[in-house]
Amino acid sequence: MAKTKNKRPDGRKPSEMRKIEMEAGVIPNAVGSARFKIGDTEAIVGVYGPRELHPRKIRLADQGLLQCNYDLMSFSVSDRKRPGPSRRDRELSLVSSNALSNLVFLDKYPTQVIDVFIQIPQADAGTRCAGICAASLALADAGIPMKGLAGSISAGAIGDTVVLDLTKEEEDWADGATDIPLTYSPKTGFITHLQLDGEISKKNLFKAIDMGVKAAEKIVDMQEKTLKEKYKGGAVE
Ligand code: UDP
Repeated sequence: MAKTKNKRPDGRKPSEMRKIEMEAGVIPNAVGSARFKIGDTEAIVGVYGPRELHPRKIRLADQGLLQCNYDLMSFSVSDRKRPGPSRRDRELSLVSSNALSNLVFLDKYPTQVIDVFIQIPQADAGTRCAGICAASLALADAGIPMKGLAGSISAGAIGDTVVLDLTKEEEDWADGATDIPLTYSPKTGFITHLQLDGEISKKNLFKAIDMGVKAAEKIVDMQEKTLKEKYKGGAVE
């Protein structure tokens, strides 16, 4: 990246995302569901509930709980991940729950839980963001009242170049890459999630955040189009 200016391994421009595909309503048994693919990273999400939360002692009297469950599937990566929830899976479940909770009108569901199961069948970096994008679409597909949809994408830097949507090959760049996954909801104007792994100058950090926010807006536009297309004839009970 540093040697050949603006040249990424897959030929993308620094501010270019990988190709995105999305679809709502992919799991018949779920209340709402979605598939989100960005390059070779794919997430499938099923939303279940709202239902009464158990055990009773963890219920919240005045609001519901949005509970994400992130699962990087065993054969999603080249070296096969051990099945079952890892420490990373648990962390990303919490990250996803936190990114989305403030966008759902949880006060409508006191003592209840909305379960969001995020499966990653294929991973080439950016899986937490793909999962959050699919979850946003699946929650809307489930008819859960939301303050706004959310777009999630990773921005960052390779050397001194600020880039969008890093692949695994780019994240593993020998001289060090910086990864900044973020989630933005255009309707509320809030960045509901931002993480930083690596080092970056203040100037490049703001540039990366700006790039990520603009990309999240584009993703939300695509989500809206997908939902309008699916429900153009009205929702079917
Ligand atoms: N990865 C892997 N094995 C693992 C966990 C992750 O090969 O057990 C790969 C996978 O491609 C993932 C990438 O490393 O997308 C980056 O993982 P990270 O923890 O940074 O999260 P992500 O970028 O997927 O949100």
